[in-house]
Amino acid sequence: MGVATDTIAAIATALGEASIGVVRVSGPEAGGVVQRVFRTPRGKAPKLGPRRSIHYGLVVAHDGTPVDECILLWMPGPHSYTAEDVAELQVHGGVRLVESVLDCVLAAGARLAEPGEFTKRAFLHGRLDLSQAEAVIDLIRAKTELASRSALSQVRGQFGEKIRDLRRRLLRLQAHVEVTIDYPEHDVEDVASAEVVRVGEALMAEVERLLAGAKMGRILREGVATVLAGRPNVGKSSLLNALLRRERAIVTDIPGTTRDVLEEYVNLRGVPFRLLDTAGIRETDDVVERIGVERTRAALSEAELVLVLLNGAEPLTAEDEAILAETSAVTRVVVVNKADLPQAVDLAQVRAWAGASPVVQVSAKRWDGLAQLEETMVTLVIGGEVQTAEASYMTNARQAQWLREALADLRAAVQAAKEGATLDIVAVSLQAAYASLGMVIGEEVGEDLLDEIFSQFCLGK
Ligand code: GDP
Ligand code: ZN
Repeated sequence: MGVATDTIAAIATALGEASIGVVRVSGPEAGGVVQRVFRTPRGKAPKLGPRRSIHYGLVVAHDGTPVDECILLWMPGPHSYTAEDVAELQVHGGVRLVESVLDCVLAAGARLAEPGEFTKRAFLHGRLDLSQAEAVIDLIRAKTELASRSALSQVRGQFGEKIRDLRRRLLRLQAHVEVTIDYPEHDVEDVASAEVVRVGEALMAEVERLLAGAKMGRILREGVATVLAGRPNVGKSSLLNALLRRERAIVTDIPGTTRDVLEEYVNLRGVPFRLLDTAGIRETDDVVERIGVERTRAALSEAELVLVLLNGAEPLTAEDEAILAETSAVTRVVVVNKADLPQAVDLAQVRAWAGASPVVQVSAKRWDGLAQLEETMVTLVIGGEVQTAEASYMTNARQAQWLREALADLRAAVQAAKEGATLDIVAVSLQAAYASLGMVIGEEVGEDLLDEIFSQFCLGK
């Protein structure tokens, strides 16, 4: 894999979101480029040495016209993000200003970076392993505090370290097996086979735990698919709005995820939920028969959590019962809404129909009971799991795929050893497992895959 030698630049902050804008430049000509576009208050080019430095001054166009005040961070390689010479020009936020600074930098000889190219260079220079690089993608996309905390710890290399540990143990096992193949005496072979079973099963258990963490990682990245089900007028839309507005009232810095009102993204106690109102676009309050079981059924097939709404101000109906029956096999909360009105519902009957599912009384209108509902939702979906170490081993789909391969290879090796197969057959599976684990952290990947992974990055990272 050749390491690129040209100099790249891009806007490194999210446009419009930050109060400062950063244009990042990386490559052998980074110093030369900023010397062309940056002037100190005395009108001089900055002095850039072999150490990090900070400079205050102006960004100027090629004809010397000032573009903006600027703070220049100089981070010479190899101790920079990409391990190349890196310069960051920090200017005031406005989108157009930052773009014109980028234009100056490009005019001064840098090339516009491709998405993920900075991180790709960091990887190619050995500054990050692949799982760390992918964690940067997750970090960019992290929608919640919890997800970003988890992504951060992966950037720090915990996941990669874990995989490397598994590989080291696997390598020792392989060495044992290979040595035994070279000196074939039966009793030695038996010892080696027993070792393959013992170590192999231990490794399998750990890979399985990492895979369990993959589910958590996906939940944190994509949100828990949550369906609001219930007959018309029970208050599904009202509850969805109440959860959203309450969250917005509590949390201020939500990344822009506004979508169709029928599907909304909320962050409840650090856990993202994708709330889907089953009512559908054409629902009106007076078209009572529209919705019901059928529409709910389709949405339910995708659901990881269902909120079954009932109207506490009315007696239970046959349709309520049908919806409760329909959802009996999924993880659900039975929500008795309109608690602010005189109650006509038979709570004992609700509990009987709800079975093991928790029942929560709320008023979507008055925002009563929402804290308890949120608590119940979070507990149902993840329980105490989030705080455990496994949650920090976030795994994306590609990593999970290779973990599953590794698990299958290990299982094959253990199986062969148990059945008394010859050790060279066992060795083949062990080698395959070693290679699969390598794929998880990018130690044996081809260029195509790298390009695919890095092209997912935002520009500027
Ligand atoms: P949906 O058809 O299930 O989506 O129900 P909506 O959210 O459209 O609500 C139907 C009607 O019930 C509307 O007039 C709401 O204002 C009213 N509503 C919803 N939640 C409550 C509540 O907690 N208390 C009261 N009093 N009215 C509610
Ligand atoms: Zn509605």
